[in-house]
Amino acid sequence: MANNITFTMIKPDAVAAGNSGAIIKMIEEAGYRIVAAKKTILTPAHAGQFYEVHKGRPFYNDLCKYMSSGPVIAMVLEKDNAVEDFRKLIGSTNPAEAAEGTIRKLFAKSIEANAVHGSDSDANAAIESSFFFSMTERF
Ligand code: GDP
Repeated sequence: MANNITFTMIKPDAVAAGNSGAIIKMIEEAGYRIVAAKKTILTPAHAGQFYEVHKGRPFYNDLCKYMSSGPVIAMVLEKDNAVEDFRKLIGSTNPAEAAEGTIRKLFAKSIEANAVHGSDSDANAAIESSFFFSMTERF
């Protein structure tokens, strides 16, 4: 089925701040089913691979360092129109520009430490889900 899967990570700042429970509650209340979930720590090399598209951007090295600074919670989520609706739920990359009531508005600390990742396309949702999970780990 197309359009019904997205991938998210609760980023190190939100996990460290003890906000993962509140964020998962918002995700479930928005109608998402958790298909797979894993708490893990990325190495800087893994973070670099995950964000390869940003290689060369001025914030790339800091982003890799930050994303490997502590545990993340990776999840595959299912719902109709999953990718688009999830981007609305999390809000703009920069929390200063995020709409009221969005996850980033509520929990992000900065444009970098912005609490959650959300896939930006169906193709990337599939690639990013496979980065962390095999099909047999999804229920
Ligand atoms: P997203 O799809 O909303 O996560 O945003 P992007 O794909 O553009 O960027 C990926 C991640 O890089 C963001 O979620 C932030 O953690 C980080 N990031 C993006 N832009 C900046 C920036 O201008 N400065 C810094 N320090 N980090 C950034």
